[in-house]
Amino acid sequence: MKNFIITGGLGFIGSHFVLNQVKNGNFVVNIDKITYAANKDNVAAVQNHQNYRFIQGDICSQDLIFDILKDFKIDYIVNFAAESHVDNSIANADIFIKTNVNGTLSLLQAARQYWQNLEGEKKQNFRFLHVSTDEVFGSLKENEPAFTEENSYKPNSPYSASKAASDHLVRAWFETYKLPTIITNCSNNFGPNQHQEKLIPTVIRSALANKDIPIYGNGKNIRDWIFVKDHCMGIEMALFKGVIGESYCFGGECEIRNIEIAQKICEILDAIKPRLDGISYKNQIKFVEDRKGHDYRYAINNSKVKKAFAFAPKSTFEQALKETVNYYLSLSSFS
Ligand code: NAD
Repeated sequence: MKNFIITGGLGFIGSHFVLNQVKNGNFVVNIDKITYAANKDNVAAVQNHQNYRFIQGDICSQDLIFDILKDFKIDYIVNFAAESHVDNSIANADIFIKTNVNGTLSLLQAARQYWQNLEGEKKQNFRFLHVSTDEVFGSLKENEPAFTEENSYKPNSPYSASKAASDHLVRAWFETYKLPTIITNCSNNFGPNQHQEKLIPTVIRSALANKDIPIYGNGKNIRDWIFVKDHCMGIEMALFKGVIGESYCFGGECEIRNIEIAQKICEILDAIKPRLDGISYKNQIKFVEDRKGHDYRYAINNSKVKKAFAFAPKSTFEQALKETVNYYLSLSSFS
């Protein structure tokens, strides 16, 4: 049994990772500030489990993090906690810098203080895994090759700039202090537990509410979609098999335009919960003013993680999207 701190474990991706680790017999301390993006229901399945503790806390509180590391004899920190919505970062960047940059700094400082006093195997096996995004690499043109770990950082939004800054801090704590860190940069996730502000839940909610389904600009922007469970599998591989100081990119090998996503969701809904008037939900799709500085395309080349871990996404997009739509349909707030 390994002891984990998982930060941001009430959010979308972190909650899946919490459930996996408790299921795998590990001990998890979930530290989450409970921002608007948190949802306790995401981890309801383990809330009374003997291998699970929840602590409401801010990753910016270095002393709190240090105490938890010591008290629970932590082996691994996996940092999911972040402000994660690009639109919010455009409206108000301050909290993105506070949580994503200062918060990561505070975690690194606490981890270093704890790790440097460990001994033997416990010290050797300690890991700090920082969960990041492909958005740090900027935007690709239509025919440019997909991002690899070698791409230079060119963040365009306040969100991606804050994540880029946090990645640089993590790298520096490895290079300078030899803290055993690993960074993962993943493409767009989708699946159950995602906050309703994001694209896929927004499309489903708007469709079911008989409202306009808003799509930015001309809808041609491309994202490389990965099912959240495949991302969590990749994080585990990087944590258990990754080389310290390295970064690993994970993608879904599934580039799709935003408009196509909306259309596919409408087709699924047309089949399983058709509108009473028999008209396709596609008629509700409306193009709206584009996001400021909207990145055109993200795509990940999985070569490094294929070679290192034999990583390959397990889910097909169609089947995982259906599972996701069914999950939102099962929520009373959506149907
Ligand atoms: P989310 O917004 O769903 O969840 C974030 C969680 O962090 C929330 O529960 C929130 O309460 C918590 N949190 C926020 N500020 C905190 C603080 N100061 N201290 C403690 N907890 C705090 O985010 P997500 O989509 O699950 O993303 C998780 C991580 O994965 C983020 O670091 C994000 O940058 C990264 N990532 C996300 C995607 C994606 O498509 N969603 C893709 C690649 C990487």
